[in-house]
Amino acid sequence: FKVPDIANEPMRAYGPGSPERKGLQEAIAQMEKELPFEVPCIVNGKPVKTGKLAKQPIPSDHAKHLCTYHEADQATVAAAIDGALAAKAEWEAMPWSDRAAIFLKAADLVSGKYRYKLMAATIFGQGKNAWQAEIDAAAELTDFLRFGVRYVEELYSIQPPKNTAGSWNRLEYRALEGFVFAVSPFNFTAIGGNLVATPALVGNTVVWKPSPAATYSNYIVYKIFEEAGVPPGVIQFVPGSPVEVCAQVLAHPNFAALHFTGSTFVFKKLWKDVAANIDTYRSYPRLVGETGGKNFHLVHRSAEVKNAVMQSVRGAFEYQGQKCSALSRLYISESLWNNGFKEQLLNEVAKLKVGPTQEWTSFIGPVIGRPAYDKITSYIQKAKEAGGEVLIGGSGDDSKGYFVQPTVILTKDPKSVTIVEEIFGPVLTVFVYDDDDWEKTLELIDTTSPYSLTGSIFATERKALLQATNKLRNAAGNVYYNEKCTGAVVGQQPFGGARASGTNDKAGSMAIFYRFVSARSIKENF
Ligand code: GLU
Repeated sequence: FKVPDIANEPMRAYGPGSPERKGLQEAIAQMEKELPFEVPCIVNGKPVKTGKLAKQPIPSDHAKHLCTYHEADQATVAAAIDGALAAKAEWEAMPWSDRAAIFLKAADLVSGKYRYKLMAATIFGQGKNAWQAEIDAAAELTDFLRFGVRYVEELYSIQPPKNTAGSWNRLEYRALEGFVFAVSPFNFTAIGGNLVATPALVGNTVVWKPSPAATYSNYIVYKIFEEAGVPPGVIQFVPGSPVEVCAQVLAHPNFAALHFTGSTFVFKKLWKDVAANIDTYRSYPRLVGETGGKNFHLVHRSAEVKNAVMQSVRGAFEYQGQKCSALSRLYISESLWNNGFKEQLLNEVAKLKVGPTQEWTSFIGPVIGRPAYDKITSYIQKAKEAGGEVLIGGSGDDSKGYFVQPTVILTKDPKSVTIVEEIFGPVLTVFVYDDDDWEKTLELIDTTSPYSLTGSIFATERKALLQATNKLRNAAGNVYYNEKCTGAVVGQQPFGGARASGTNDKAGSMAIFYRFVSARSIKENF
């Protein structure tokens, strides 16, 4: 069979009076009436209520919570792994067209029937505004599923190009032996779905530990997979304490792969746990991770100021700077900075409205939780103590929700703490370089931070774009010209970076599917 032509899910505009705005507002109102929800673990398709309760707070109103969830205890995790191993043979043996149909149906459920509900859960629980929720929970998740089916079809068709007379060589793409462990982040509902769907599409069964701060939206994603026809045991939903669940799962001899998005610190910790268990595993586990970023915009003196300003505001402050890809260090030519860039930037930032995103007009919502709020505000403090000048913002208000003002810090120190370390919040640090120091600035960008996820170059001179692209060869896995460094689109810009940013296996491309199969070569003689 052939997978039908696939296009990116069209983004809806949510203009005043539009049916989509009405639909989403109704879903938000409904959710507000019904919350808090109760979320169980799901093992072998059955809810498991462990009684070990935890809450997912609403970050814009932390006295309330979106859901109470049952944390997986040891017995539940053990049952989830056993069930995943037991479900594997039948799932892998299922004709590929059936697995494809299940995930194509899931994509339709995400983009249709559950679109607004999933967005509302992302708005309440993860603090996205409607537009950011649309990009994530509606469009990107749908794209991951539809393009995923397409990529697997392509992968399976890749075969050795040569046979000798009287023989036939073929490659069979087996699922990994054992089970896959998916550990997903709070910041994209789509990533949760994708970390699970990618290995499952190629016949793996998956134990899924969602981020505590995204439990409810991820639970809805699980229920969508179930409704689409994913059989019991293929995806095991085990929210819970990250440390305990991860330690138990990684100690299992049939652990076959980790599919992770989250912090560099945690990924390294899990990698070390894997190393400690290496002698007990049946196969070398595949470790696939997308971790942090310290992403840059480099603005050359030939750049168009207005575009560079607008893109920088969006790159730094959309979703409160909580995308791995968010802009956090801006290198700007002195002549532009002093001739309108600074003024325009501050004017635009001043217009950003901060507030709960379930209210329609907020651009900047809350940051995800108490630790994030404390970390971000303490970085602003550290920057000030180190001589950084806060040009706008610089404060927060955590009385009701975890709100941090969009903040721009000017520094003269190219190695200042907020230029080097990941903050994961609405804080942009600006370094103004002398126009004559262009090459020195390229060197600085390359060597200043341990990360290498995304970066954008703004210039109208082709030569400048080329020079920067060459010199910054290893400084980012996703590069943009004259556009913000966030917003990679599935099927268009495969996403991921190297260095401390991850294993660069490129989500949203065919490449990542290779990591979850173990090919077998078969030579047949006639
Ligand atoms: N793919 C997203 C983007 O390009 C970022 C994903 C992430 O934050 O992990 O903006």
